[in-house]
Amino acid sequence: MTKSRAHPVFAEGGTTVFEVFSALARETGAINLGQGFPDHGEPEEVIAAARAAFSERSNQYPPMMGVPELRRAVADHARRFYGLDVDPMREVMVTSGATEALTAAILTFVQPGDEVVTFEPMYDSYAPMIRRAGGIVRPVRLSAPDWSVDEDALAAAFGPRTRAIIVNNPMNPTGKLFSARELSAIARLCEKFDAVAIADEVYEHLVFDNQRFTPLITVPGMRERTIRVGSAGKTFSLTGWKVGYITAAPDLLTPLSRCHQFLTFSTPPSLQYGVAHGLAMKDDYFQGLTRRMNDKRDLLVRALSGIGLNLGVCAGTYFLIADIGVLAKPGEDDVAFATRLTREAGVASIPVSAFFGRDPPRNLIRFCFCKTDETLNEAARRLTGHFGRG
Ligand code: PMP
Ligand code: GLN
Repeated sequence: MTKSRAHPVFAEGGTTVFEVFSALARETGAINLGQGFPDHGEPEEVIAAARAAFSERSNQYPPMMGVPELRRAVADHARRFYGLDVDPMREVMVTSGATEALTAAILTFVQPGDEVVTFEPMYDSYAPMIRRAGGIVRPVRLSAPDWSVDEDALAAAFGPRTRAIIVNNPMNPTGKLFSARELSAIARLCEKFDAVAIADEVYEHLVFDNQRFTPLITVPGMRERTIRVGSAGKTFSLTGWKVGYITAAPDLLTPLSRCHQFLTFSTPPSLQYGVAHGLAMKDDYFQGLTRRMNDKRDLLVRALSGIGLNLGVCAGTYFLIADIGVLAKPGEDDVAFATRLTREAGVASIPVSAFFGRDPPRNLIRFCFCKTDETLNEAARRLTGHFGRG
């Protein structure tokens, strides 16, 4: 075969693990607890607001920064939940999903030879986009079961070439919530090395056990150097909509907008009006979402513990990590185990090695619990039937 003409990041990288395991689940009829998308809970009034906008408002290009209604709603939401003062016209930009926001942030701030600190396991889009921008990924590895940050390892990852850090909090795939102490350590290092923080906070409303979520941008010293990223996909259980939003100081947002204008330019206006409606809903919507997902986490924890799996601590997100040690066959790694689980037990998951660069652990798989109780109970029944415990 001739050498690919494509950039090596895309010539050599495979299809994302989410697509691979969703396809396997479709092919085998397995319950899909792999890729993170809810199968319930889409708020009807958000959909109704978008539906009304489809028929009553323009379907042409909206303003490239986002419709003013949504930019104001993002700013109001930040004030309501975090006491953060945001100028909607100078500090908010709407993107086509958090994915675009993250890519825009990386392309805007990372130049060839720059280093970007990330926590590993990391969401799968970060490393390829950093590398495509010519940057170097400096992973700081976290370990099960509590995923705490070793501050010496974090400090060692920073250096004169550090341009940025990406902090996904609450964190996919681990379910980790960063502690106040960890956030301050990150802030101190960003200040010391004059680094930008890309705060992927798409799971901000999925924080359990009555814990509080603190956006990195509100940590002392971070207001002017944080690019905060949110997503309607997670906050309104509408992952297919791909409506994201960035909040950042004007010095950061202006160059970001120059990148966004050439990536997507804009995002479907009707969906933006729907999300603007959603962000303005009363507190009980957001509390209800948190409570519901908290209960689902508990349901899945009970089911997976019942078959003997050791679980990582899950404080937030849609996800729970399990150690396959006790159930794997000799020599069976996470990919083989997750494949067998899909084909033979009828439950799909995601092998966690996909979230690492070099030398990944091969004993962890991720389950997603943002599913109806019926689906979770059926998955539990299948797993118990297959592994014979419970
Ligand atoms: N970041 C993380 C950590 C995620 O889990 C996801 C999930 N889809 C995204 C970003 C992308 O969000 P969106 O669908 O809004 O692009
Ligand atoms: N965020 C989702 C997950 O972690 C997947 C998103 C995607 O498929 N790109 O499962």
